This record gives sequence, C-alpha cells and structure tokens, in this order.
Amino acid sequence: MDEPPDLKRRSFLLGKFAAAPQPDEPSFAVIGQACFALRGIACMSCRDACPTGAVRFELAVGGARPRIMTDTCTGCGDCTQSCPADAIRLSASEAAS
Ligand code: SF4
Ligand code: SF4
Repeated sequence: MDEPPDLKRRSFLLGKFAAAPQPDEPSFAVIGQACFALRGIACMSCRDACPTGAVRFELAVGGARPRIMTDTCTGCGDCTQSCPADAIRLSASEAAS
C-alpha cells in the first residue's frame, strides 16, 4: 500500500509535491568511433535503415562519414539494430561515447 502524502506545509514549501524529475529519455542516435565509415570502410546500413532520413553522409577525405540530423531523428533505434559495428547508441545528448 502506498504511503499517504506528507501534507505538512514544510514539505509543500520544499517542493516535495512537485513531480519527481525523470531520467533523461533517449532522444536521438549518436554515432561513436567504432563506426566502420569513420575508419574508411564503406558502410551505410544506418542510413538505409532510418525511416526518417535522419542519417546523412557527408563527403570527407577517406570516405563519406555519417551524421545524425537531430531535428529529424525520432530516436526509434532502427539504426542501432542495423549497425554491424554496434557503433550507434541512443542518447539525450549529442556527445559521442
Ligand atoms: S534512431 Fe531512428 S530516426 Fe534516429 S537516426 Fe536512427 S533510425 Fe533514424
Ligand atoms: S551502420 Fe554503423 S558502421 Fe555503418 S555507417 Fe552507420 S554507424 Fe557506421
């Protein structure tokens, strides 16, 4: 059985009735250094798997490099399933691991 809420004025003033902060939900894909394309090995599996076209490849010396368009990525995770290098993770931050 749930505990009854603490209705003391002190609890209210300390914000204890506010909704508890939720852990960050993954919101978009982030490509890490294990990516084959970043190592010069041709691979576009993530682009092919993405239903929203959020994976773009940009020309670069050594081969095209993938880039996630965070404005169109929905965080569905389809690209993570298709990546042969296990190089993609979902994150709420753009920082690569
Ligand atoms: S998480 Fe989904 S929408 Fe985002 S890049 Fe991957 S496949 Fe595309
Ligand atoms: S599927 Fe994985 S290895 Fe291939 S380009 Fe995308 S991130 Fe890189």
